[in-house]
Amino acid sequence: MRTPILAANWKMHKNVGEAVAFVEEFLPLVADAEGVEMVLAPPFTALDRVGQTLAGSAVKLASQNVNPEAKGAFTGEIAPGMLVDLGCAYAIVGHSERRHIYGEDDTLVARKAAALLAEDIRPIVCVGETLDQREANRTFDVIGGQLEGSLAEVDPARAEDVVLAYEPVWAIGTGRTATPEIAQEVHAFIREGLAKRFGERASQIRIQYGGSVKPDNVYELMAQPDIDGALVGGASLEPESFSRIVLFDRQGSA
Ligand code: PEP
Repeated sequence: MRTPILAANWKMHKNVGEAVAFVEEFLPLVADAEGVEMVLAPPFTALDRVGQTLAGSAVKLASQNVNPEAKGAFTGEIAPGMLVDLGCAYAIVGHSERRHIYGEDDTLVARKAAALLAEDIRPIVCVGETLDQREANRTFDVIGGQLEGSLAEVDPARAEDVVLAYEPVWAIGTGRTATPEIAQEVHAFIREGLAKRFGERASQIRIQYGGSVKPDNVYELMAQPDIDGALVGGASLEPESFSRIVLFDRQGSA
């Protein structure tokens, strides 16, 4: 049984006051949510206060990125142990914005995932093809390569602690969601790839869909057999919208 996981990726939005105000409004809206895991990934600057405001709630804290090194001369970077310090349960790695804007590759993503697991933080590993790659019929090649490369350093014994996020780049922030069928096709392919790498454990690994998820499309997406949650950007910035995503999901999966 895979517990659905709904995660908000706020990217470079919200100062500390705005982030805390979101949490104060959001928590009562999801107080009755059961059978789902809820995660908020604010910017680094708001992690501490958001973590304090979430204390005692069912909502977990995540970072949007991490450096794989434990400490040292890496100006501007944040180590996994520092995220432990702030109470992070999850960290997003390999988001397409990190891959495409900052040139991060699968080797670096793999190191980040392993470094997080070593500190008992669960990585949310993002993969996804661009529009050009999809149109050139390269989707499965690209996703297969990203999976293999990004999970290369994960100890199979920890496989269930990894969350995958399939985020077609053409659907991120564009309002253009993959149809449930397109998403399911790729999710099933990802699960097959996970089975080759991790055997039976693959059936326990959650695979989120991300790309213009909204309250009015989450139900159909979540109804697909291999879609186990959502990674949400734009529609996670308002408490009402993200709570509807979380609650819709709960009704849909009941
Ligand atoms: C994301 O950034 O992970 C994302 C899926 O964004 P959006 O929901 O805005 O498409």
